[in-house]
Amino acid sequence: MLVKVITFGCKVNQFESQAIIEALRRAGHQIAGPRDGVDICIVNTCAVTARAAYEARQAIRRVLRRHPGARIIVTGCYAQTDPWGLMESIDTNICVIGNDQKERLLNPKFSSMDCLEIYVGDILKKKNITPFSLHSPQGRTRAYLKIQDGCSAFCSYCIVPYARGPSRSLPVEEVLEQAKRYEEAGVREIVVTGIHVGFYGRDLEDAVSLVDILDTLTSRFKGCRFRLSSLEPGELTDDIIALAAERENFCPHFHIPLQSGSSKVLKSMGRRYTPEEFMERVNVLRERLPDAAIGTDCMVGYPGEEEADFEMTCEVIKGSPITYLHVFPYSRRPGTRAAGMKETVTKREKERRARALRAIGEEKKVAFYRQFLGTTIEILAERVDRKRGTVQGTSANYLQAVARLKVKAQTPQPNQIVKLVAKSIEDQKIFGEMIS
Ligand code: SF4
Repeated sequence: MLVKVITFGCKVNQFESQAIIEALRRAGHQIAGPRDGVDICIVNTCAVTARAAYEARQAIRRVLRRHPGARIIVTGCYAQTDPWGLMESIDTNICVIGNDQKERLLNPKFSSMDCLEIYVGDILKKKNITPFSLHSPQGRTRAYLKIQDGCSAFCSYCIVPYARGPSRSLPVEEVLEQAKRYEEAGVREIVVTGIHVGFYGRDLEDAVSLVDILDTLTSRFKGCRFRLSSLEPGELTDDIIALAAERENFCPHFHIPLQSGSSKVLKSMGRRYTPEEFMERVNVLRERLPDAAIGTDCMVGYPGEEEADFEMTCEVIKGSPITYLHVFPYSRRPGTRAAGMKETVTKREKERRARALRAIGEEKKVAFYRQFLGTTIEILAERVDRKRGTVQGTSANYLQAVARLKVKAQTPQPNQIVKLVAKSIEDQKIFGEMIS
């Protein structure tokens, strides 16, 4: 059978889609190219915003238009949180598989699943992590290692706990086996990921925490560098910072979501820290790791966010050592606590706040990049453009850089470490000449 897999959303979904593709290939199916016909299409959806769900519906309709005979299997967070709504809005025969039963897609016999079926159970009761594993990652440059799934925090605006269930961790041996497979496949960078990685280990019988698993990974797999995905402010412990400062293969790059600089808004969101605590953590991080990239997320237009609250967010961002910023306008998600709150910020005002905050974020990013002008940067080559004579890649501290080759014979291969002298900043990227 010719199978197409369409993926939306986060790194966890991407990892799971790749594991599904690998299982399909093992079972003798072929992955459809852009011009091929499609017998079965699996759409791995996201539900984090209303827009994500809309985009998934659009993608399904597009596939149905182009391949009227194709069977559609929809999985992921949208499938889990609103299977009946999804089925109704598509109005044709589709099969819906929730995150709680995603392992069905690893079963070679999945193609015999009936259309018009809904395989969605109560994910809040799920106790174990679905055993996805990858043997040959798509590219060798960067691979995701999912060590944890689910979230037990229930922030007021977030649908994720209902889409992914409670926090569940991958046992240590399985984490190490996956890392070993990546190392053997020649992967140079492993992104340690999950839905809420700071919860890692809390549900396991062995007393193990995030810092323990990071310690083991960075000491055992010295040929790979490890990048950590998002971590809540209270979970960025001194131990994790000390480990990152000590281990060369622990990328000095942290993503610590702030969401709001107003204590009132944070409290209403159900976030478990104050702006002052966020600031204390990122300042400690900056002191110990002067060159580290520190990213954050902010939400604007949350119900009840007044102009003064928004201003506080701007002030916290301006005064913090963060180096890049993602801004999200609040989007109401049915089923969450915030969905019952009165929306007080108009769409237009949300957009204005988002624009203003993004501009501050861009300034912070450029100021961070500027510090490295004139210095030598090491990047892991991701894209090599032989015609233009350039190599694009990312440094351990998350600088996006383009190295110009002085002589064509210098051309490196993707997945090689390349050194360049940073000369200029264009389009939020560092440009420079390759020296080795
Ligand atoms: S910590 Fe809060 S925002 Fe993050 S996934 Fe969990 S519930 Fe959602």
